[in-house]
Amino acid sequence: MAARKPLIAGNWKMFGRQASLSEIKALWESVGRAAGGVDALICPPACYIGQAAWAAKGTGVLIGAQDCSAVQDDSARTGEISAAMLADAGARYVIVGHSERRSLHGESSELVRRKAEAALAAGLTPIVCVGETEAERTAGRVAEVVGGQVRDSVPDGNAGVVVAYEPVWAIGGSSTPTVAEIAEVHAVVRGTLAERFGDRANATRILYGGSVGPKNAAEIFAAEGVDGALVGRASLKAADFAAIILGHPAAK
Ligand code: PEP
Repeated sequence: MAARKPLIAGNWKMFGRQASLSEIKALWESVGRAAGGVDALICPPACYIGQAAWAAKGTGVLIGAQDCSAVQDDSARTGEISAAMLADAGARYVIVGHSERRSLHGESSELVRRKAEAALAAGLTPIVCVGETEAERTAGRVAEVVGGQVRDSVPDGNAGVVVAYEPVWAIGGSSTPTVAEIAEVHAVVRGTLAERFGDRANATRILYGGSVGPKNAAEIFAAEGVDGALVGRASLKAADFAAIILGHPAAK
């Protein structure tokens, strides 16, 4: 089996302005060739994707989106942005099913799966987010919840999908699961993918997300089955994001 190339993705959420795009060049100046061993990705707000793709030209930084429409055909959908448009603007990846979309915008796993299908049809790599709430963890339902989300959100065929395990309670806070807990859930994700896709599941990259920063990145990257990270706050500043990337053994 070919080794899975680590992916370290930054999710800028609804932060930043045009001036923030200078962080892309600054990131590349900090990580440079060392980042050759990993895929470094920044997902700015959709309105900046075209400019971000220009800013990333000549660097190894990849650009992605934070969401896309589940509708594949050009049609009358005011406010929607199709995966094909994002690809046309220079995106290579798109995050789908982030917990903020699931909880604040009522997105179901079925909708997330259709978004991932739309992404694949447009030639984008979907990063399908899954993760349990604090109440679900306390109730001992992590495997059931995360396994169910993987079953329902990852499209049939599984070609080129990335899965991000992001415990909802760890996002935007200060606590993270232990390395052992992260490894345990990553094994659940891989096992669920293997039930559906057999050996092909070995090719799927599984990221960890939730309060990753320069201080804990190396420890998290060392956890069994972790193929990289999805990073929120700490991806906004090139210095922090570079320190995270350089914390990966493949970027040495
Ligand atoms: C996220 O929003 O995907 C995330 C992981 O955020 P943070 O790194 O800020 O916890």
